[in-house]
Amino acid sequence: MKAVLLAKDASTGLPKAELKEVDTPIPGPGGLVVKLEACGLCGTDIEKIRGEYTAAMPVLGHEAVGTIAAVGEGVAGFREGDRVFPHHHVPCHSCHYCKAGSETMCDMYRSSNLTPGGFSEFFRVPRWNVSKGGVLKLPDDLNFDVASLVEPVACCVRALDKCGVKSGESVLVAGAGPVGMMHSMLLKSMGADVIVSDVSEGRLEFAERSGVRLVINAAKVDVPNSVKAETEGRGSDVVIVASGSPEAIIQGLRSVRKGGRICLFGIPSRGSILDYDIGDLYNSELSVFASYGATETETKRAMAQITSNHSDFAKLLTHKFPLEMFDEAVDTAASGRGMKIVVTPD
Ligand SMILES: [Zn+2]
Ligand SMILES: [Zn+2]
Repeated sequence: MKAVLLAKDASTGLPKAELKEVDTPIPGPGGLVVKLEACGLCGTDIEKIRGEYTAAMPVLGHEAVGTIAAVGEGVAGFREGDRVFPHHHVPCHSCHYCKAGSETMCDMYRSSNLTPGGFSEFFRVPRWNVSKGGVLKLPDDLNFDVASLVEPVACCVRALDKCGVKSGESVLVAGAGPVGMMHSMLLKSMGADVIVSDVSEGRLEFAERSGVRLVINAAKVDVPNSVKAETEGRGSDVVIVASGSPEAIIQGLRSVRKGGRICLFGIPSRGSILDYDIGDLYNSELSVFASYGATETETKRAMAQITSNHSDFAKLLTHKFPLEMFDEAVDTAASGRGMKIVVTPD
């Protein structure tokens, strides 16, 4: 079978994605093998290919959905042909971190994964993920392409829970890429007043069409001043930084109101340093926090949101590439053309 795997370039020593012919996996006891139908390309996949990813062991493809092709010994509740979303990381739900609500910091969370990864014609889901409830069956009316949004939308759901956004609050989403738009869509459904900033005109046009109140071109105007002008001089109640760029983080810190909340959602490159006076955090009583990953609790809610708002979420899917064209998929994503990119087996 075909699989896109992370390899090392022999001449440069740098990581690269390579389409390889490998053995089709067989399920271990308690595990599953899933036939890929669609897998979203995430910004973190691109960071992994470029050697800039800092959070976990680099496996490509974690936004995969498909059909169960083989069921391991002792698995109950699943059978061949079931349409599923298997979460790549699953927490234990019993350790100190899990009980305290930091499930994605559980030592077990990042210990298992899809093998060889989500960009593979077939992949194995380990016993841990199956037995801990990480595999969800897809509703019949949710097509595979749109279902590939379950994982990233779940990560947004978790972040927005941490922000505790109330109806009527103003929220700046800094970054109008795919996850920035997922945040905007969820925020609008919560009754928030959404402003979106980005440096890409194309992405801002997309945000504008989606019906947010205001878009700000961060390449042309001062973001904090523009946000303050729209919020009676205060700044927004909440900022979601849906970009790993230090400039976007600083703009977020300067665009939030006194006493406001800032959620770091995008992943900064390795070694990113902020040029920011920490005293301002105290003087303005700012709450800064990060949100990493998602659990089954959020994937279930994400699936319900996507199913009930299918046509809006479907608009995020602007490009589709087969596994053979994986390099083109990466180039398209890295160039910022379009929104969400989905990779399919053929
Ligand atoms: Zn992702
Ligand atoms: Zn745990």
